[in-house]
Amino acid sequence: MRVLVTGGAGFIGSHLCERLVRDGHDVLCLDNFFTGTKRNVAHLLGEPRFELIRHDITQPILLEVDRIYNLACPASPIHYQYNPVKTIKTSVLGAIHMLGLAKRVRARILQASTSEVYGDPQVHPQTEEYWGNVNPIGLRSCYDEGKRVAETLMMDYHRQNGVDVRIIRIFNTYGPRMAVNDGRVVSNFIVQALKGEDLTVYGRGGQTRSFCFVDDLVEGMVRMMECEDFVGPVNLGNPAETTILEFAERIISLTGSRSKIVFKPLPADDPQQRQPDISLAGSRLGWRPAVDVEAGLKQTIDYFAALLKGAKS
Ligand code: NAD
Ligand code: UDP
Repeated sequence: MRVLVTGGAGFIGSHLCERLVRDGHDVLCLDNFFTGTKRNVAHLLGEPRFELIRHDITQPILLEVDRIYNLACPASPIHYQYNPVKTIKTSVLGAIHMLGLAKRVRARILQASTSEVYGDPQVHPQTEEYWGNVNPIGLRSCYDEGKRVAETLMMDYHRQNGVDVRIIRIFNTYGPRMAVNDGRVVSNFIVQALKGEDLTVYGRGGQTRSFCFVDDLVEGMVRMMECEDFVGPVNLGNPAETTILEFAERIISLTGSRSKIVFKPLPADDPQQRQPDISLAGSRLGWRPAVDVEAGLKQTIDYFAALLKGAKS
């Protein structure tokens, strides 16, 4: 099949492209390189089945494809808040353009939505039925509301035009090729620990997250795309929940670092708790994460250690 991956040069997109090439598909990786880099897919450039296109999905594009994975959108708070208007345009115009393309060429399209559609959730763990608790005018809204509109567009194109859509809600995912400087907690803590710098815990560190290794997520994405008669939305994440303070302690222990923990102000609207209920993914896709957090973190630490060593030499 010819498969388009928007945001394919980003963290998750690059792992997805790798998997799709390995599965024998022709992969078109589309990216504007805002947060992604060519380096993330450099190892695929020699593959005859892989093609890289520089394009911004806020503009339309005409391509002949069978599948579209729509991932283009900065995912870390510092990156999506850098140019919030651009972020919401990317989610909304990007979804409109990709849905238009899917409709025209009769491709199946999967939207990478997010646990952020649940906002600061009052239901715990979060099931797909929960409608969320999102501030529509806050600093995170450009991302959260953009993704919510993208979901709405998927459902309306599906009901109105019969477009074959899939929606996944991704919970915090980590692994090799996260950007060193993207400000997310996993990359921040690992890089700080490896450099012997203080680990910056925001607030008192009592807020929770549940971290999923990228290979597990990619497996869930592919299963959802190829699942017949199930539009979603479906949660994809690892239910292993941890407080951010415990997580910092764990990174210090796994890296053998002498770093200390310091407390910094909690950003506005930072969700207090987040844990996916993945029963639906289990029953409809036969999916659950296979990589335990310790094994996944070790691989991620090795990645950042090699990167920092390379940067020094
Ligand atoms: P990322 O920032 O590494 O990747 C996003 C990619 O999209 C980058 O390569 C970037 O250059 C590209 N991009 C951004 N705006 C674009 C535009 N206008 N046109 C074309 N390309 C554009 O982030 P990621 O962690 O790989 O996230 C990928 C997708 O998964 C995003 O849609 C994100 O919202 C979603 N998601 C990720 C997580 C997570 O924990 N990583 C959680 C929930 C949802
Ligand atoms: N966080 C932190 N220190 C950091 C970066 C993040 O304590 O250096 C916290 C942040 O406040 C949030 C959690 O870790 O509560 C996860 O943050 P991230 O930006 O990775 O993802 P998101 O908030 O989008 O889940």
